[in-house]
Amino acid sequence: MKKKLIAGNWKMNGSLAANEALIKNLLAGLKAPACDVALCVPAVYLAQCQALLRASPIDLGAQDVSEHEVGAFTGEVSGAMLKEFGARYALVGHSERRQYHFETDVVVALKAQRALACGITPIVCVGETLAEREAGKTEEVVRRQLAAVIHANGHCISEIVVAYEPVWAIGTGKTASTEQAQQVHAVLRAQLKAATPQAERVHLLYGGSMNAANAAQLLAQPDIDGGLVGGASLKAPDFLSIIASAG
Ligand code: PEP
Repeated sequence: MKKKLIAGNWKMNGSLAANEALIKNLLAGLKAPACDVALCVPAVYLAQCQALLRASPIDLGAQDVSEHEVGAFTGEVSGAMLKEFGARYALVGHSERRQYHFETDVVVALKAQRALACGITPIVCVGETLAEREAGKTEEVVRRQLAAVIHANGHCISEIVVAYEPVWAIGTGKTASTEQAQQVHAVLRAQLKAATPQAERVHLLYGGSMNAANAAQLLAQPDIDGGLVGGASLKAPDFLSIIASAG
């Protein structure tokens, strides 16, 4: 059985001092985790976190990657740059990027492609808004979002990680029920199975107000292979407790 993956998304939080304290507390509490662990940090802190995480069981991740390889794209950070600073993962298509930066399914698919080309595992985020769920469109939306990524990355689709993050559950304290989460994960797994014989290899993470109290139940679902954790990844005891639930 594959190990679960717990990835923290710090979003736009942190400072040199706070990052150091958080990582030191995490490493002090994390001896030999039974699951894979990653932290997706703001790009400006990659160098600091790379140094703090060196020779530790925690992998480094970025929160975005440019769809372009190189050139006149002011403010963008390329996959090659992220790789130089030790990024093993990059989030792509987080709902906050889709919502505030107008990233389309096609752009998200290209970002996943750029990450893969640079040896970085994209954590592709998909998920429906509350209005879409209430309109009965959850499956249609997540299938459409994943289809774009499969279309652009078919030959190496088993190398990606997918995070199902219902938008209405992110940072709201509202978690999808275990049944709701498992149901969507099963849809995503079936879609991957139609695209690759190696679909079981793909980690399907759940994200959306995962916390120390609800993690174990979510992680026990057959198609939930880990978690993408926002708010709770900023508190060492909470994040450590979620990691322990994934053992
Ligand atoms: C996220 O930002 O990916 C996320 C899941 O946030 P939170 O855990 O705070 O809902």
